[in-house]
Amino acid sequence: MSIRTRYPLLQQRRTKIVVTLGPASEAPGTIRHLIQAGADVFRLNLSHGSHEQHRLMYGRVRRAAAKLKTPVAVLADLCGPRIRVGRFREGGIQLKRGGQVTLSTRGVLGRTGLIPCQRKVLLKAFKPGDRLLLKDGLLELRVTKRLGTAELRCEVLRGGELRDHNGVNLPGGAFPLPALTPRDRRDAAFAAALGVDFIALSFACSAADIEDLRACLRGASGKRIHIIAKIERAAAMKTAGAILDAADGIMVARGDLGVELRPEQVPVAQRELILQARLRYKPAIVATQMLESMTENQRPTRAEVTDVAHAVGDSADAVMLSGETAVGRYPVETVHMMDRILRQTEAYNSAQALRPTSVFLRAEGETARVGAAIAQAALELAGQLKAHALVVVSRRGMSAATICAARPDAPVVVLTADRRAHRRMALYWGALPVLTEQAQTRNFSPLARVVTDRLKLTRPGDFILLVQGFSAEPRLNAPSITALKL
Ligand code: PEP
Repeated sequence: MSIRTRYPLLQQRRTKIVVTLGPASEAPGTIRHLIQAGADVFRLNLSHGSHEQHRLMYGRVRRAAAKLKTPVAVLADLCGPRIRVGRFREGGIQLKRGGQVTLSTRGVLGRTGLIPCQRKVLLKAFKPGDRLLLKDGLLELRVTKRLGTAELRCEVLRGGELRDHNGVNLPGGAFPLPALTPRDRRDAAFAAALGVDFIALSFACSAADIEDLRACLRGASGKRIHIIAKIERAAAMKTAGAILDAADGIMVARGDLGVELRPEQVPVAQRELILQARLRYKPAIVATQMLESMTENQRPTRAEVTDVAHAVGDSADAVMLSGETAVGRYPVETVHMMDRILRQTEAYNSAQALRPTSVFLRAEGETARVGAAIAQAALELAGQLKAHALVVVSRRGMSAATICAARPDAPVVVLTADRRAHRRMALYWGALPVLTEQAQTRNFSPLARVVTDRLKLTRPGDFILLVQGFSAEPRLNAPSITALKL
């Protein structure tokens, strides 16, 4: 028996790629090459760089997308209340297992036995017995004594080298800071004025955090900018449902989440978060260390490739590249590689009918929502007729999001007259957004035929489904599904 390891690729990739911009994307023409390699969404990481640099990159993205006539979205990622250690006299110190150190917020320069730390409020939250993680969880301390309000005495549980500005995490503990800092408010207003499509809120822990950002954005822009909640605190796993209800999507931010949870909990957290997002028709991005080794190398590790394939199996809407494209040596090659892994995995899954089962069947004990019922019916009809495309007429993208969340086998062509919805759909699984003035018409059949033909999705004799007239909100009009034979 021989085992096939290559399958004919689907014409359209379903899982989207988010690409973080940075110094590695500044060379002329790079953004165009990144889009051609497969970038669907660009991330401006507001933890780094100046507003001027981000404005420049934003302009380049919009111009490149217009030139290539491709829907591309921009996501601005806020820094959030990240805690870091301060600076050391020698740039770093060694922590020895069993040794004693003092964590101080007195604005001191660090030295052996003394770790400067930026946030006073952090120290207030600690009591003897609590644990602290440093440097991506590689080092671990246990608080033994509080020294006044500005210092903590700690025992080193896991030692190693600690460097200037390494991060601090609290494993499992409730975090004492609101997600939106004064700096984030300024950055959010800047990003809103720029015209970004999504804003990501770091360290979101509650629905109130999302509402806080929404109120801030309402003040800064007349437009409703979609909010992506970054799930990166262990505490946020307990409130994930409420966070997802309040937000427009999530990012499984495995960098910090993977520090605060035990490593073996991360794959389960990822899968459950994606499922919960799909149940709400909201997109989920899997982020961090996906092809990390390509920051330096031209080929990824086997484990990284398998991780990306598992994110496809988990049915993520999008996978994200961070340092690989922001500061890496091979940003365009990395996007190409990501595209290849996604396409080959999707081809196999499709050939083996390994599509994720419909989430709508899992809504236990409740009457199906109108959107869910229509999406389910469309999914089944498309399967029966082996439809080559589902064409969804969608004003702001809600109907399309519902259909995409059903993960149909055929691509989802989204007809919209709304430029912002057109760009936003770049983040949604399987969506092929098409901007058309004609989205106001009543008879969409001719348009659906022309568009699917132009996108080379169909041949004469194929079926397509036209889905229109419903929204995820069960208050709307006359939903219909029409099967068209070409
Ligand atoms: C993460 O922690 O995984 C993440 C994406 O957040 P950031 O890179 O902003 O720390």
